[in-house]
Amino acid sequence: MSRTPFTITPTLVLPRKRNLSRGVMLRLWLISFLGILAHEILCRQVQCDGVQKDHVQGMVILDTMEFHSTRSPAEYDYTRYHPMEEIYQWMDDIERMYTQLVTQHNLGRTYESRPMSYLKISKPSHSAKKIIWMDCGIHAREWITPAFCQWFVKEIVQNHQHDPKIQMLLQNVDVYVLPVYNVDGYVYSWTTDRLWRKSTAPQHKGRCYGTDLNRNFDVMWGSVDVAPNCTSEEFCGTKPASEPETKAMVNFVKSKKSEIICYLTIHSFGQLILIPYGYSGKVSRNRKVMMDIAVKAAEALKQQHGTEYKVGPFYSTLYPATGTSQDWVYDQGVEFAFTIELRDKGKYGFQLPEDQIQPTCEEAVAAVMTIMESVAEKKFPSTEPMTTSSTQCKKESRN
Ligand SMILES: [Zn+2]
Repeated sequence: MSRTPFTITPTLVLPRKRNLSRGVMLRLWLISFLGILAHEILCRQVQCDGVQKDHVQGMVILDTMEFHSTRSPAEYDYTRYHPMEEIYQWMDDIERMYTQLVTQHNLGRTYESRPMSYLKISKPSHSAKKIIWMDCGIHAREWITPAFCQWFVKEIVQNHQHDPKIQMLLQNVDVYVLPVYNVDGYVYSWTTDRLWRKSTAPQHKGRCYGTDLNRNFDVMWGSVDVAPNCTSEEFCGTKPASEPETKAMVNFVKSKKSEIICYLTIHSFGQLILIPYGYSGKVSRNRKVMMDIAVKAAEALKQQHGTEYKVGPFYSTLYPATGTSQDWVYDQGVEFAFTIELRDKGKYGFQLPEDQIQPTCEEAVAAVMTIMESVAEKKFPSTEPMTTSSTQCKKESRN
């Protein structure tokens, strides 16, 4: 959400302390140590001829090193922020623990060749179902958003057998969750710069790095609130969908757009539930219905911890922005599209303390579930809750 201009020269350096908890700091130091170790190993194996090369190669080695959490999947701590390797491991564990409900898929690969893994939550069915998509972490520094996507998946998988609302939802739709959209940027925000926003691909022959992936979509691309200068935090790329991460989403949505009924993209911060459009004040085709759903979601959210979220069109409620994923997906014909800006309103901003993960996620789950249920009710108005199947995998009741 709010942005402060700064220029970064990517280097493999120790992270700077930015009011992080001791747990996060310890893991940052561990990752930095491993990064430096990887860098040293690398430099003995190849001729390091520059900081930028060291950076990219060091990051690749760092990311392939195994420093997975020693915790069992059932003990995964959802009240802490996790580095990318732990999130990958968590996705593997969730898929393994809930084999009848969750499968893992790959949207594509990032510039640094990391998989963009997402989870498909789907009850077995003989008929094709519609899709609700949700992504988190398109902006690297918004750490609360991957934490939220993981929390949301946990809520669904743990409660799907006895919560009639979840049963009704999954009877009609499959829910796809991409916990970290901008994987390279997220890794970079852990290893090098906590406030990094963009992706990490070099631009203009390596003079600067990264594209704002939420300005890179082909929808009024490059016309408002974007920067042609690649040192800017809002650099929109060299052309629409110039970045591999954007192309991956474009290919997926184009191939599935007749099945996708709702697109959700989660950001921070600002406490907002937004509907299209961001690129202009143009009225979206089903604005009233989407506004009604957003208001209902904000009310459900407030009931959890009393937190107020503002609701409205992106353009007039936040700021004008072109090339956003929300607008592009919506203009592909997907009926419902929402951007949610999680806590807070600026006190901690992108560095929301870990003790706020739980309340932030609890209230946001209430909002997102309200949106998903409302969308499903509108598409499938006469659905009755399913009865719990006695044949469900025993493993699913463990957690
Ligand atoms: Zn954002």
